[in-house]
Amino acid sequence: MELTSFCVHGHFYQPPREDPFTGVIPPERGATPFANFNEKINAECYRPNAELGNFDALSFNLGPTLAAWLEGHDPTTYQRIIEADQRNRVTHGVGNALAQSYHHTILPLATRRDKQTQVIWGIADFRHRFGHQPPGMWLPEMAVDRETLEVLASQGIAFTILSPHQAPPPSPPDRGGERGGSGAGPYRVPLPRGREIAVFFRDEALSNHLAFGSDLANSVKDFVGNRLSNAHGSGRGLRLVATDGETFGHHHRGGEQFLYDLLYQEVPQAGYEVTFLTRYLQEHPPVAEVEIIDGTSWSCGHGLARWQEGCTCTQGDSRWKRHLRGTLDRLAQEMDALYQDEVERWGADPWRLRDGYIQVVLGEIEGRAFLAQRASETLAEEEAKRILTLLEAQYYRQAMYTSCGFFFEDLSRLEPRYVIAYAAKAIHLVKEATGVSLEEGFKRDLRLAVSWITDQTGEDIYDEVVQWRF
Ligand SMILES: [Zn+2]
Repeated sequence: MELTSFCVHGHFYQPPREDPFTGVIPPERGATPFANFNEKINAECYRPNAELGNFDALSFNLGPTLAAWLEGHDPTTYQRIIEADQRNRVTHGVGNALAQSYHHTILPLATRRDKQTQVIWGIADFRHRFGHQPPGMWLPEMAVDRETLEVLASQGIAFTILSPHQAPPPSPPDRGGERGGSGAGPYRVPLPRGREIAVFFRDEALSNHLAFGSDLANSVKDFVGNRLSNAHGSGRGLRLVATDGETFGHHHRGGEQFLYDLLYQEVPQAGYEVTFLTRYLQEHPPVAEVEIIDGTSWSCGHGLARWQEGCTCTQGDSRWKRHLRGTLDRLAQEMDALYQDEVERWGADPWRLRDGYIQVVLGEIEGRAFLAQRASETLAEEEAKRILTLLEAQYYRQAMYTSCGFFFEDLSRLEPRYVIAYAAKAIHLVKEATGVSLEEGFKRDLRLAVSWITDQTGEDIYDEVVQWRF
């Protein structure tokens, strides 16, 4: 009889913490005795998990902004994580690392063009680090709609991970309640133009127990003996836990040892096969189809409201979210018009150029050489500089949609400040390139966004961040 399989997927991610004007991470007092949270979480989670070999036994994604930080600040840990994927490729023919769209943008809230850039940049970043095409992609906050899945599939992504409530329950006669019964899938989602993508569904109860349960470190036998064996349905198939990777060591002290004991000892001893998603998909292509519910996510039952107008998951007056997002959207439109104009005048496709610009960000090619590859005619020095500056502005225009800016309760927190700082940096670069200042309109719009804790407006915060006062 076929074994029941078990997989833990860890979403390892930190937002960029650098002040975009200085490139330096401002001191983060909450992280004491460490200089900042990247240092702290690395010491508690990334490094010990890598040392224990846990990345070999997980399915995981390493967010591009975290990967870049680790590469520079803890190359040994970074290398261990890359090698875990490589070892699995040698042993199983497929690796266990997944890509992530680049800036942790809530993709269903982004334009199609931005979705495409985020996905293409995420794939390029993965290829740069892991040396091969990513098989699957993690969606930030598991936020999904059909257009997002279409973009993934069009870029060669074979699968993603969702929560059960993001798809309608299977109807009993044709699917036999299979999704609830035999676990995680994979299922096939048919898409337009003959495309399709596979989705795995995580086990909500098991995942939430690991993410939010107390005393994780001492409960590995309880987890396997009681919770895993009682997970709904006892049939064959895959049991999938998917949660933030920081669960193991940062959110739960000692979580790295729990993970080691779980994956290397208790789960195999209980008769399960520990696997990872790419390998499981290869061995078990999807048979049943499933639809997805547009505009859903894993961490909020209010659709995407948490990142739009706010929802009751956070306290206080969250109207600032709608105003902040509206302000960013207007800035993005104004920036795009200027950028498009400049690039089309030169005779290139502005959006293909932006999609390709990730090579420059990754240091794979120097800016002037990148432009030269795409030009039928040589650019004058001045013109090339202008386009490269506008491309850099587009990079920050992408960064300003980082989801954590909208996740929490108030505008005065550090996360929305970063969002405003990225916008400020983009505005600064656009002015440098074109002489056009988008600042006044942006600040005017930002006045509508008000902190319910400090009464500061977005404009007040803008004025602070451009003076580098985080
Ligand atoms: Zn909510």
